[in-house]
Amino acid sequence: MNTNQIPDDNDGRVRNLIIVGGGSSGWIAAAYLSKALNFNVNITLIESANIGRIGVGEATIPTIKEELFDFLGVPEEEWMTECKASYKLGIRFQNWKKPASEGGDHYYHNFGEMPVVKGVPLSHVWMYKHQQQGFAKTLDYSCYSASPICDAMKSPRYMDGTKALHYAYHFDALLVSEFLKKWSIARGLTHITDDIIGTDLSETGDIQALRGASGRKYEADLYIDCTGFAGLLIEKALGEPKVTFHDCLLTDRAVAINIPSDSAAEGIRPFTTASAFSSGWTWEIPLNNRSGNGYVYSSAFQTAEDAEREVRAWFGKKADKVDVRHIKFISGRRRRSWVKNCVSIGLSSSFLEPLESTGLYFVYAALYQLMACFPNKDIDPALRNKFNERVSYMVDDVRDFIVLHFCTSPRTDTPYWRANQNELKLPDTLKEALELQKAGIPIRKSYHSNNSLYDSFEAGFDRFWTNSNFQSIFAGVNYLPKQPMPLLRHRPDILLEAERVFDDIQKKTDQMMAQLPSQYDYLASLYTKGKTGEQAVRSVQQAG
Ligand SMILES: Cc1cc2nc3c(=O)[nH]c(=O)nc-3n(C[C@H](O)[C@H](O)[C@H](O)COP(=O)(O)OP(=O)(O)OC[C@H]3O[C@@H](n4cnc5c(N)ncnc54)[C@H](O)[C@@H]3O)c2cc1C
Repeated sequence: MNTNQIPDDNDGRVRNLIIVGGGSSGWIAAAYLSKALNFNVNITLIESANIGRIGVGEATIPTIKEELFDFLGVPEEEWMTECKASYKLGIRFQNWKKPASEGGDHYYHNFGEMPVVKGVPLSHVWMYKHQQQGFAKTLDYSCYSASPICDAMKSPRYMDGTKALHYAYHFDALLVSEFLKKWSIARGLTHITDDIIGTDLSETGDIQALRGASGRKYEADLYIDCTGFAGLLIEKALGEPKVTFHDCLLTDRAVAINIPSDSAAEGIRPFTTASAFSSGWTWEIPLNNRSGNGYVYSSAFQTAEDAEREVRAWFGKKADKVDVRHIKFISGRRRRSWVKNCVSIGLSSSFLEPLESTGLYFVYAALYQLMACFPNKDIDPALRNKFNERVSYMVDDVRDFIVLHFCTSPRTDTPYWRANQNELKLPDTLKEALELQKAGIPIRKSYHSNNSLYDSFEAGFDRFWTNSNFQSIFAGVNYLPKQPMPLLRHRPDILLEAERVFDDIQKKTDQMMAQLPSQYDYLASLYTKGKTGEQAVRSVQQAG
């Protein structure tokens, strides 16, 4: 560590940084900050052996590959093998239009951008065909190759490793924490096990020191609060309140249940499933050895016992002898995530139900913003303000997109779903998106093509949900304008050109269906490579 240290101790730079908390956010912060600060700052992570971790964040979005694992320089065969990871091509939403008891329904929200034809997204040509010509094929199967590939449980990579489709990961969050812990400690991070029981503040109100149950005192220039819902530093020590979203998001409880799976016999689904239930929705996240599941629900509409019964019934016999974990949460974010010399990251900063798998994105995206605003010891308030503005924008923007799923669902079969239609106080930013949809024009057209997932992380941050995302959800629940995009009545050339694009998508899909291996087969081969890699490292170590 500190190979690049510059000897002047009085130049005002941050030299010592303490992270409190060893959950996913603590260890992602540890690895990310070590690398982003060039291994040039003394980083200490303090975690309690007595206070548990959430450890249920298991589905992700595609940017995690480039912005975290590639950034750290860790190849898939290395970390995926250790973390029981699998690929995710999107989310399959089930029964968001009608309950399973009435036959149910499903649609996919895939990754990547839909093609654009002469400036008009394919979604709007699909809408035109659907509404004017009775075109029956749904948007997710017309505009994306990934939907049938999901049904066929294929891998997004060919057997030689070539990437065919955009993807994210499912993984065991606790194993990812362990992996990043080893990675960080091997690169010089100091790891301490202690319970922090007190905080000393200076006259300016900054954190001066942390007091451990062991009797030790810990001092740093900058403190990162990764203590989860406890918010030990940001809330308990510095008193920063939360802005809650209870007026637009009704859920406040989860019951988590992991179920073992036999992937050799059943295969591995390359998608997260989000099924609407009576008072919320259930996630199913297939890993290589088990499925991580849970039901997010509203305690105003269902008791914990009923919720557990409903989720157990859904999974049937497989859930019979499996323990469940009940979790309480408040949707919202800190008014300011960075206060004085303390930056909160992870659950101590914000929480939104994991409907679009954005929890871990919030962690590495906040770290990215922290690097852009990284301070000296004497913190310029403008840096804090900029960071806080960016993090608040990020969380509020995702909140709007999540609320969109609930307020556009046509379900009215339970009090919970009726409340979603009638009682939500919609944010103005979301109202505007809904108005544009009703008027039939695209919302937030993307700046990049489907070939690249995003131009830059910064640009993707500013325009996180694009027209493709919005239209996947709208079409999925049939929230369509009365009339399709007015311009298209005057542009038969666009409609004609779009037919060629639809055909190209179908041809590409047929070719992928024929040639992509199953996710199970691809992972079996990747895992073998990972194991071979580990053995190679061990034999080099033994030889050394
Ligand atoms: C129901 C649910 C489902 C989720 N699903 C997803 C998902 O699918 N995808 C996704 O990306 N995200 C998901 N998330 C979010 C994700 O789990 C979290 O963002 C992530 O795990 C970060 O948690 P954390 O590290 O902030 O907190 P925690 O895991 O709670 O870790 C807190 C740490 O702080 C330590 N600590 C606390 N107090 C002290 C103290 N006094 N002294 C010392 N140490 C202390 C604890 O020991 C622990 O190590 C989900 C969250 C929930 C609740």
